[in-house]
Amino acid sequence: MDRLDKLIENLASFPQLGSKSSIRFAYYLLNHKDKALSLAKDIEEAMNNIHRCNICCNYSESEVCDICSDEDRDRSTILAVENEENVLRMEKEGGYNGLYHVLGGTINLMEGIGPDEININELFKRLDGSVKEVIIATNPDVAGNATANYIKENIPDKSIKVTRIGTGVPIGGDLS
Ligand code: ZN
Repeated sequence: MDRLDKLIENLASFPQLGSKSSIRFAYYLLNHKDKALSLAKDIEEAMNNIHRCNICCNYSESEVCDICSDEDRDRSTILAVENEENVLRMEKEGGYNGLYHVLGGTINLMEGIGPDEININELFKRLDGSVKEVIIATNPDVAGNATANYIKENIPDKSIKVTRIGTGVPIGGDLS
């Protein structure tokens, strides 16, 4: 396989790019070498320097992200979301001043994703007495509901209020 075929095949393996777009994108890269090399460098630097926050599991360049280390935020409330984009979206919209927890997916036993495959234990480890409420904002679908129910039933500190938002809230969906 020559290098161009390899590049196209590699691009096509990303869910965002079909085979047609991969071919178009590969030629675009070849026609814009400076941009392509700059992109390659940005990807490498991002992969080497962005890691999961030790507390909330969102991506961050430091061990603890800016939100978790912000003392002005309400540390008694944690909003548990499915993915990193949900955090970005909530922050863009504003109005929420508590902390977050990125679950990194939802429980989906049909697909072999149990509670240990997502960041639920990391959430439970954070409940050290300072947290009074966990708001679960997983999507209102079967997996989102199963995840919310699991958290509610297994939360180690039963004095913590567990609430569920999903339907009708401006969370999830595509970033605009
Ligand atoms: Zn964090």
